[in-house]
Amino acid sequence: MLLETIRRPRSIAFVLLCTQAVLGAIFFQGPDDLPKNVKYDFIVAGGGTGGGVVAGRLAESKDWKVLVIEAGPSDSELFAARVPGLRAQLKGTNVDWNYTSTRQPALNGRATSYWRGRMLGGCSSHNTMVYTRGSSGDWDLRAKVVDDDGLSWNRMLPLLKKAEKLVKDSEHQREGNHIDPSVLGHDGPLSVTAPYSGHPMNDKFLQATSELSDVFPFVQDMNAGRPIGISWTQSTIDSEGQRSSSSTAYIDPSGDNLHVLLNTYVTRVLPAGEGTDFRGIEFASDAQSPRRQLVANKEVIVAGGVIGTPQILLNSGIGNREELEALGIKTLVNNPSVGKNFTDQPSSTVMFSTTIQNTDIDMDSALAEWNATRTGPMSRAGEINMIGWLRLPDDSPAFGQDGFTDPSPSKNSPHIEMFFKTISTQGVTLPPGSPNITALQFSHTNLHPVSRGSVTLNSSDPFAQPNIDLGLLTEEVDLAILREGIRNARKLFSAPVFANSVFGTVSPASNITSDEDLNAYLRAAVVPIMHGASTAMMSPRGANWGVVDPNFRVKRTQGLRVIDASVIPIMPSGHTQASIYGLAERASEMIAKSYK
Ligand SMILES: Cc1cc2nc3c(=O)[nH]c(=O)nc-3n(C[C@H](O)[C@H](O)[C@H](O)COP(=O)(O)OP(=O)(O)OC[C@H]3O[C@@H](n4cnc5c(N)ncnc54)[C@H](O)[C@@H]3O)c2cc1C
Repeated sequence: MLLETIRRPRSIAFVLLCTQAVLGAIFFQGPDDLPKNVKYDFIVAGGGTGGGVVAGRLAESKDWKVLVIEAGPSDSELFAARVPGLRAQLKGTNVDWNYTSTRQPALNGRATSYWRGRMLGGCSSHNTMVYTRGSSGDWDLRAKVVDDDGLSWNRMLPLLKKAEKLVKDSEHQREGNHIDPSVLGHDGPLSVTAPYSGHPMNDKFLQATSELSDVFPFVQDMNAGRPIGISWTQSTIDSEGQRSSSSTAYIDPSGDNLHVLLNTYVTRVLPAGEGTDFRGIEFASDAQSPRRQLVANKEVIVAGGVIGTPQILLNSGIGNREELEALGIKTLVNNPSVGKNFTDQPSSTVMFSTTIQNTDIDMDSALAEWNATRTGPMSRAGEINMIGWLRLPDDSPAFGQDGFTDPSPSKNSPHIEMFFKTISTQGVTLPPGSPNITALQFSHTNLHPVSRGSVTLNSSDPFAQPNIDLGLLTEEVDLAILREGIRNARKLFSAPVFANSVFGTVSPASNITSDEDLNAYLRAAVVPIMHGASTAMMSPRGANWGVVDPNFRVKRTQGLRVIDASVIPIMPSGHTQASIYGLAERASEMIAKSYK
């Protein structure tokens, strides 16, 4: 099933036979296939979310030759990368990096899986597709932190809209009051829809918004800048019920001046001569194969993601001098911030027992429906289509009695996201011998953690997995906010609309109420939500911390930029992909402008 073909990348042989046709990007399956005589203006290391955008946008200038080097294969032959309902099938497969974190002292010594897409489109080819811009205050704080108004909400809106194309879902359902159609862009390459099912839970949440309007008001559009309350979700799914990714949206429509080298691993960026002009790049099929080098005419852009990018920079000698030299790597640019500041949002699956109709689907008939008409459960990311966004009040125990400073970026920013996933008996773990329980299950996530981790090398072998220290829950305030989130979730499900249909929590158990017991539950249950960011963080020009300037250039280098999640200076109040699409649009404009 995974390998069923949907679209096939154009091979060089095919292109040569069809020189009169409108040509798309040209794909090469390995370094041996790459033409020897092409000089590339831009070389992009990593064809993921950020890399796909910048490559596609730069290739719009037909006189520029752009090369993307991607470690994984094309997403185009991966059926599960196309069918929204199959999204979970790609995690942990050979198109995933399958990272494992270091043991986390604050998570009872647990090591956790850390998924990242290893294919064209990167994580945008296997993520959950939720599209959240975050709050206006998140962007305004980003602008303040990096001392560049270009990152403010008002300045970023045109760039976010440039990426977005709001379309009707494949069932052509009425938008009704699900979204405000004036909020998203309508002409960009990235399709965004607001698909929904007829599951009764959606209506119950709507009713809860009137019963608990003080804490959970109805939010007409979660992308309008103030996501606080309960909103319908929006997804990067197109009007044909298929995933929209950086690969389908930006690389597919490109011309033949965009070359994509697949199955090829970037080991280092290299100075093009003496000094710190890093327009050189080194790559190989695998650790056993010969390494090759190319030099870009204009720039190298590193877009390896939150793990891959610091790994490439560190292996290239851009990082903390002491740490690099301890591994025998020569330091070319001493920058202690590379790989530091790793941030992800701590999350646990909270469950309430319920008698509401389950969301289980019959896979065979759902797939048959999708194959026939691109509709039904496989055409959306889930059957419950509402998200809860909780902002704790200023006098919340987390900030009052516990005395922590509120880490949220603004009054428009929620602290907690409740991403309602399923109602099912599956996934409910109870002591042996317990009766089956149907549970409403949701990810309960602290959106603005203060805890930080790091990505560091453990050897000078560029193919070795780096140490990924998530740092989750190392700051007590993160626990305090999660505790209050669980208490508020219990309030949400005590709304009159849920009387007789949603009962106590199964996880954490109903009798877990004290700070101490909730902490114990959280330390045992929390995992990263897979929104890792900030390992090559943006900072003001001239700052002696951070990795890139607001123009995405790596500090104290020439010819080298980073464009992906690793530059994000402040986490969004939500999921990360919209931030990356917006930032990559901004970076693409900046680069294009600097050469015109
Ligand atoms: C399971 C999962 C679910 C998620 N769900 C959502 C969601 O619903 N909504 C949302 O907004 N966000 C979601 N995210 C997060 C979001 O998808 C990511 O933050 C974002 O896509 C990352 O973009 P990026 O450009 O930083 O990196 P990536 O998209 O990961 O791109 C990096 C690319 O670089 C390649 N690469 C890395 N190292 C090398 C190397 N040495 N040589 C060559 N190539 C290399 C990788 O293979 C990859 O293609 C999810 C993430 C995961 C893993």
